[in-house]
Amino acid sequence: MRREGCERRELEEKEEEEEWVLIINGGVGGIVSRLLGTEKRDFLLSPNGDQVKVSELEGKVVGIYFSANWYPLCQKFTTVLANVYEQLKYKGAQFEVVFVSSDEDIDAFNRYRACMPWLAIPYSDLDSKKALNKRFDIEDIPCLTILRPDGNLEDNTTILHDGVELIDRHGARAFPFSKDRLEELERVEKAKRENQTITNLLANDNRDFLLCHSSLSKQVSITSLQGKTIGLYFSAQWCLPGLKFNPKLISIYNKIKQLLTHKRDEDFEIVYVSSDRDQAAFNAHFDTMPWLALPFGDPTIKTLTKYFDVRAIPCLVIIGPNGKTLTKHGRNLVNLYFEKAYPFTEAQLRYLERKMEEEAMKLPKTVHHAGHHHELTLVSEGTGGGPFICCDCEEQGSGWAYQCIGCGYEVHPKCAKAVMSHWPRLWEGYFEAKLDKSGVTKHEERRSTVTFFVSTATDLVRVSRFEPFVPRTGDGRSEPIHLKGYRPC
Ligand SMILES: [Zn+2]
Ligand SMILES: [Zn+2]
Repeated sequence: MRREGCERRELEEKEEEEEWVLIINGGVGGIVSRLLGTEKRDFLLSPNGDQVKVSELEGKVVGIYFSANWYPLCQKFTTVLANVYEQLKYKGAQFEVVFVSSDEDIDAFNRYRACMPWLAIPYSDLDSKKALNKRFDIEDIPCLTILRPDGNLEDNTTILHDGVELIDRHGARAFPFSKDRLEELERVEKAKRENQTITNLLANDNRDFLLCHSSLSKQVSITSLQGKTIGLYFSAQWCLPGLKFNPKLISIYNKIKQLLTHKRDEDFEIVYVSSDRDQAAFNAHFDTMPWLALPFGDPTIKTLTKYFDVRAIPCLVIIGPNGKTLTKHGRNLVNLYFEKAYPFTEAQLRYLERKMEEEAMKLPKTVHHAGHHHELTLVSEGTGGGPFICCDCEEQGSGWAYQCIGCGYEVHPKCAKAVMSHWPRLWEGYFEAKLDKSGVTKHEERRSTVTFFVSTATDLVRVSRFEPFVPRTGDGRSEPIHLKGYRPC
């Protein structure tokens, strides 16, 4: 019985496909009418509220836009799409967009629609909305499903589900979204990346310099960056994670510079790529930075943001001495490895990863962390971990982490602050532990020879390995702990 059911469904799907091919190849009552109209409604709403016959869309490339006003990513993409739409309309392209709303009520729908220059399915037609969501298997918004009038269902060129990505990446150039067009864009992009140099990344027709803080001149030539490792730092003063990351990056920048003082053939530089809202904000923010910057509002900022597909700031893209991109995950690497991440080469990162694996092997499998009321478990990418935001330092993390699956709570191993409840098990018979007001844990043992500093789970292990160290404490201070007559467990 089951088999029969499967076969029947396959047969039905096949029939449906055949019908689609027929319609797309110019059959009566085309695909667009069938998808976007119903028996009761053969029209869509224009921006000014007029009715536009669905049949007018036949023969055009149509983007069905699933979106909602309450979701910031949708609002952001609506602005991008509106821009592309206007450009295409100006050129007379046979392109149309139809909005399928997931707004909470009619007022929200109308407000949202006011910033859309295209058509919409009436808010009241919930059945059409449901049917389209089901037909295209919509799970995430914003989603832009592109229907091509001349495509072929067999090779998947009729319906493209990744319209949002295509528009984000290529803008109006993606039109008419044909296989040939998209392949051509890929080729152009590939050639561009192969020919990438620091100069063609940062310079444009009107500017061959960057801003600097030197007292002699406020400008430095871009050619002086050739042969150096360069960090492109996308950030803004209004961005809170950026403000938090800034001091860390400055300290690491200074340390790398320090390390390189005696090396003649190597250098490191950072270029601030600002998304500040005005010149004053840019000035104030750039003043806190010891590195270079692209001028505020320079067109290259937009080009770079698109080129490196920067979706969230702060973001640190690293360019190697040969002008090629080393990594777009500089921020994460700096968080993980500090100045040791330099020179961000694959070899260096592999080495650091290996070292981190070795370190992680020595970490306790579970820890009671001061900032969470459940026991945390050590996980790696292969055992339930993955990219995360550390609940302690609020920075990105990946690879090893201490995690509470139930609460979705996760911290870097270096941020885990072990508390007493956990320690007696590890140290029974050797220490008396007490937690002082600053969160620094002090340990005492009877016979005194060594002085240690203890605060994090990572450091705990080092104690057991009998190595002196200076850990960071919760409030940035370090406090000595006197371990008298210490013997390893
Ligand atoms: Zn952390
Ligand atoms: Zn929990």
